Amino acid sequence: MKPAAIRITRDIYERARAKMVEEQLVARGIKDKRVLNAMLAIPRHIFVDDALSSQAYSDFPLPIGEKQTISQPYMVALMSEALGLTGKERVLEVGSGSGYQSAVLSMLAYKVYSVERLTTLTARARRTLDRLHCSNVVIKLGDGTMGWADEAPFDAVIAAAASPQVPEALVDQLAPGGRLVIPVGTEESQKLLRITRRANGVSTEVLGGCRFVKLIGKDGWQAEKKDASER
Ligand code: SAH
Repeated sequence: MKPAAIRITRDIYERARAKMVEEQLVARGIKDKRVLNAMLAIPRHIFVDDALSSQAYSDFPLPIGEKQTISQPYMVALMSEALGLTGKERVLEVGSGSGYQSAVLSMLAYKVYSVERLTTLTARARRTLDRLHCSNVVIKLGDGTMGWADEAPFDAVIAAAASPQVPEALVDQLAPGGRLVIPVGTEESQKLLRITRRANGVSTEVLGGCRFVKLIGKDGWQAEKKDASER
């Protein structure tokens, strides 16, 4: 398998997409050509409800149901770039959500393993990714704070939900030289961290401030009571 080769789609949002890449990504310092190309190619509007299509290329996150959001385009680009992908990597994604970030990663890496805790989102993300023939993405229903032990180690790990601490399993499942990008902090505000596995331990860089939905699981936040039925 090799990175998914999505052709630049012809649709009514082509110009909106190009504008998004120029004004939200290039203008803010995203330089990785492969990331820019992937975000130019992937039709972000099919990852949101029809009623929100026209806002899909705007500079903010959007609701995707279940109190979750598709991340702001800039955040998707920043995190993807931070993983430093060349096309050979096996990547673990925690929080498939709409599947948009998975689609971007499918063009940047060899294979994407994505874990999502909510059934409805898992099913919808799979359907949308199938429409784009993203055959190098596998999605599993489960608690991503535990990683995906059977498929470890990973060259890169990305979490699109915020955690009170770095889940140990995600660091343990990094290959030598592997990178983990994850927002860590309180419910209201977090720092985006990049943790790299080195020969003699790990190194941590702070990439900036951010605000994500909660990572809910054994090594994240606890599910609220009414939330438990969603599992
Ligand atoms: N990258 C996604 C954004 C997802 S929002 C996109 O492009 O649409 C974060 C997602 O993480 C939500 O769908 C939420 O249900 C999921 N999530 C939260 N805690 C999780 C956990 N422990 N394991 C797997 N998924 C989790």
